[in-house]
Amino acid sequence: NYITFDEFLRHWAAQRPDGLALVEGERRTTYAQAEVLTRQLIAFLQAHGVGRGDRFAWYGKNSDRYFLLLFAAARMGAVIAPVGWRLAPREVGYILADTESKLVIAGEDFVAAAQAVEAGIDNGPAVFEAAAAFAEAAGMEPAASFAQPDPDEAVLQLYTSGTTGNPKGVLLSNRNLFSLRRASRVANMPWDKLDAQDCLLGAMPIAHIGGTGSGPIAVANGIPVHVLPEYTPDGTLAAIEAGTTLLFLVPAAVQFMMQHPRAATTDFSRLKYLMYGAAPMPLELLKEAVKMMPATGFIQLYGMTETTGTVSLLPPEDHDVGGNRRMRSAGKAVPGVRIEVRGPDNQPVPTGEIGEICILSPSNTAGYWKLPEATASTIDPDGWLHTGDAGIMDEDGYVYIQDRIKDMIISGGENVYPAEVESAIYGHPAIAEVAVIGVPSAKWGEEVKACVVAKPGHEIDAADVIAWARERIAAFKAPKSVDVIPLMPRNASGKILRRELRAPYWEGQE
Ligand code: ATP
Ligand code: MG
Repeated sequence: NYITFDEFLRHWAAQRPDGLALVEGERRTTYAQAEVLTRQLIAFLQAHGVGRGDRFAWYGKNSDRYFLLLFAAARMGAVIAPVGWRLAPREVGYILADTESKLVIAGEDFVAAAQAVEAGIDNGPAVFEAAAAFAEAAGMEPAASFAQPDPDEAVLQLYTSGTTGNPKGVLLSNRNLFSLRRASRVANMPWDKLDAQDCLLGAMPIAHIGGTGSGPIAVANGIPVHVLPEYTPDGTLAAIEAGTTLLFLVPAAVQFMMQHPRAATTDFSRLKYLMYGAAPMPLELLKEAVKMMPATGFIQLYGMTETTGTVSLLPPEDHDVGGNRRMRSAGKAVPGVRIEVRGPDNQPVPTGEIGEICILSPSNTAGYWKLPEATASTIDPDGWLHTGDAGIMDEDGYVYIQDRIKDMIISGGENVYPAEVESAIYGHPAIAEVAVIGVPSAKWGEEVKACVVAKPGHEIDAADVIAWARERIAAFKAPKSVDVIPLMPRNASGKILRRELRAPYWEGQE
C-alpha cells in the first residue's frame, strides 16, 4: 500500500536490484542504480541550494535524466518543472520566472538557450548542463537522510497545454502521481498485466502530462521505461519493432505514425497496448488503427494535467470495429475516481444529457501555482474539479466527451460541438486534417466553418466537403464554409489551436 515514490523505489531496489528501470539509447539504469543515483541527485540539488519546497527546472528533450530528477524531487520534496523545448524564448522565460526556479538543468543543445533566457530574469536561475550535473552528482556521497515530503506536498509543477489560453502551472504531489498505480490493481489498466520483460516507450513530450505521467507509474510498477528524446513516426515504429509493448500517443501522433511509409511493413504484433488520448480521437482514424494493429489492445484515456492524467478509460474489449457505439466513448471512471456530469447549477444532469464533466479523484491537483482565482473557479470547496469539458454519461457510466465548453459553437440557437463535426469530416478522401470553428454570422449568430489540410496530391472542393458532412451529421452541424489551409496550427502536445484559427474572424468582435 505504498503511496510515495521513495517507497516504490526502495521496494524494487530490494526486490529486483538488477532490473532495468530506465533506458535511453545506450544508457541503462537499474533499480539499484536509480535508488543510489536519485540520492546523489538529492545531494547535488541540496549543494546548489535546492531544498524541500524549492523549485528547479528541466529544459530539454525527453530524457532518462529528466525522470531521475523527477524521482529525486519526489523523494526529497523539491519541485521540478519541465519546460517544453519547443517553446519560444519568451515562453521559456515566463515559466522559469513564474516557477522561481533556483536552477535549470538543460539537456544537450539547450544550455546556450537557457543562459540567454536566464540573463533576462532578475535573480535568474543557475544553469547546468545535464551531463555535467550528472557527472558532478555521480561523484557525490548519496544523501543518507533527507526530509521525506508529505504525500500531498507538490513535487512536480506541470503546465497545462495552453490550448484554451495561457498555460497554468499545476501542482502535483506523490499521492497525485501514484494513486493510479494503486487503482490499477482492480481496474482494466495494463500496468498489472505487464512486467519486467515489458517496456513502455516514453515518446510524448515530458513537458505535458501525457509524456510525464506514465513514466513514474511504469517504474513504480517494475516496468522498464525506454525514453525517446523526441517523437518521430519513424523512431516510434523502430521502437515498436524493437519490442515496445506499451505506448501512449496523442491521436495526431497515431495518425502521423500510420501515414509513415514504414508503417506498412512494421510488425505490430509485439505491441500489447496502445493507449491514446489527450485530444479527441476521430472515429475513422481509430478504426483504421485497430485494423492496422489487430493484435494490439487499444485503450482510450481521458484526463488532464489537473487530474495527473487518466480519470476514465475505454478498455480493449470496447474497441470492436463492427459498429460498437462505445468506440466513441472515453470509457468509464477508473476505480477511486468519481465522474459526474453537471449543469450550470452545479447539480448532476439526468443520464444522457450534456453538462460539464466534474471529477473527484485522489489525483486531483491541490491547485494552480500562484493563481488563487483560477484555482477557486476550477476546484469546489468539496474537492470536485470542473474540467471545462462538455460531456454525456450513459446509463452504464460510459462518458462521451463532446468538446471544450469554450469551443462550443452556438449557431441559430443550436449547440454544435466542433469535435463531432471534425470526426464526421475526417474520413473524406481528400482531407488529411480538419479543425472546426465558429465564425461570426449575421444570420446565425455564429456559423460552422471547417479548416482543412489537403492530402498530398488532392484538391479540395468546398461544396463536396459540405455535402459529405451533411450525409453524416445534422444539417445545422455541417459547415457552411470551408477554408483550405496549408498547415494545421498545433501546440507541442499535438493539439489543434482552434483559437489561432478563430482569431482573424473575430478581430474587433469579442
Ligand atoms: P489548457 O488547459 O491550457 O487550455 P489543455 O486543457 O489542452 O490546455 P491538458 O491538461 O494537456 O491541457 O489537456 C486536457 C484536456 O484535453 C481535457 O480537458 C480535454 O479537453 C482534452 N482531452 C483529454 N483526453 C481526451 C480524450 N480522450 N478525448 C477528448 N479530449 C480529451
Ligand atoms: Mg485544460
